[in-house]
Amino acid sequence: MNLPMLAADTTTPKSTLKANIIARALELGFDLIGFAPILGEKEDAVLRYPAFLKWLAQGYHAEMGYLAREPSKRGNPRLVLPQAQTAIVVGVSYDTLAVPMTILTDPSRGRIARYAWGADYHDVITPRLRKLGEFVGRESRAYVDTGPVLERAWAEQAGLGFVGKNTCLIHRTRGSYFFLGVIFVGEAIYDPLPLTIPKSQKALCGCGGCTRCLTSCPTQAFVSPYVLNANRCISYLTIELKGTIPHEMRPLMGNWLFGCDVCQDICPYVRRYSTPSAEKSFYPVDVDRAAPKLLDILSWDRPTFNARFKNTPLLRAKRRGILRNACVAAGNWGHPAALPALMQLLNDDEVLIHEHAQWAIERIKSQE
Ligand code: SF4
Repeated sequence: MNLPMLAADTTTPKSTLKANIIARALELGFDLIGFAPILGEKEDAVLRYPAFLKWLAQGYHAEMGYLAREPSKRGNPRLVLPQAQTAIVVGVSYDTLAVPMTILTDPSRGRIARYAWGADYHDVITPRLRKLGEFVGRESRAYVDTGPVLERAWAEQAGLGFVGKNTCLIHRTRGSYFFLGVIFVGEAIYDPLPLTIPKSQKALCGCGGCTRCLTSCPTQAFVSPYVLNANRCISYLTIELKGTIPHEMRPLMGNWLFGCDVCQDICPYVRRYSTPSAEKSFYPVDVDRAAPKLLDILSWDRPTFNARFKNTPLLRAKRRGILRNACVAAGNWGHPAALPALMQLLNDDEVLIHEHAQWAIERIKSQE
């Protein structure tokens, strides 16, 4: 179901433009749309920017060095587009409820985060976002998780929801399973009165006294509400980290193969307001696409891996990353049935995979 966030006032040319953009966004398959003024001349355009800088300074971005490169661009869109006046923020739901939890949590399977069950979201959303930018007709810059943009902060400022204690953007009646895209445009397409946005995170936040995401995190990755230490986050460890997974983290990672959904799955806003996505390409073709059997993955050579995950976000982790993660999941499964495949991987040409296979073998044997 499409859900525009802003009701358009069509009495002025500016709001007619806004109404037309909303209509076009809905046509293009976006579920959410909002408009945020870019008012600051420097890095104060994004209210969450100081918190972002503090997070970087504490090293919580781990090895994601690209986040620390030219941080001022993330705070000031005018360093990217000098005439930028409005951030148009859109969202597409990937709330796909197709796979039973009994399958996802089966320790003999490797679990994939929901956002990666179907087509690569960059391939689906980027062309639509460009079309929307062209429709606005002015010079624009469009980003889906690829540029120097604090997407969730802009979504919050555009009225799409609030940033929860789990650091996700939470829509009050649709939950948090959304891909976000941002277009900076040179037109002032927002309400004539300046938006009043509370400076304090607490004032905006709808979490109240809830702390479920913080206490449910399997690796205790939240340092405090709103502050995630990526060094401990399963999404980081299984996707972004390119080298060895720290030994102390491995037993805590369960059967996660790529990403993690725990802090969203547990959230009352997700549980209460879950609505199936209208975007069919985000649904898995079968349950094995959401949670493949570990014994299958451990035997995949490069061509099989590439064919299996063609056009999906998993390709970015490459076979070496996915098999590394599968070894950790197999060690946590603890079943001797995994031993032959793990032994075979001791001959793999990737040293990274040997080391994790060896760890899994020792872990299974120690439990026998
Ligand atoms: Fe906020 Fe609770 Fe959801 Fe965490 S689980 S984001 S604390 S509402």
